[in-house]
Amino acid sequence: MIPKIPSRIDAFVLCPCSGTAGIATVAPIPEDPDHMRHLYTCLDCGKDLSFDVAKNGVEARDAQKREA
Ligand SMILES: [Zn+2]
Repeated sequence: MIPKIPSRIDAFVLCPCSGTAGIATVAPIPEDPDHMRHLYTCLDCGKDLSFDVAKNGVEARDAQKREA
């Protein structure tokens, strides 16, 4: 099952096109040291998806979806 919102250990996330997006980069967020920005690229439509994922814990609710 591919999550719609990734935890920090998820290599894949569900794209709005119902395709699968794979992890591309993980980068620190200077203004938010408790989160990392995970960028996924859809393997089907090529869309970029970015999520701010909490460094501590794997709660999906801590991830905040942002438009790429
Ligand atoms: Zn897609």
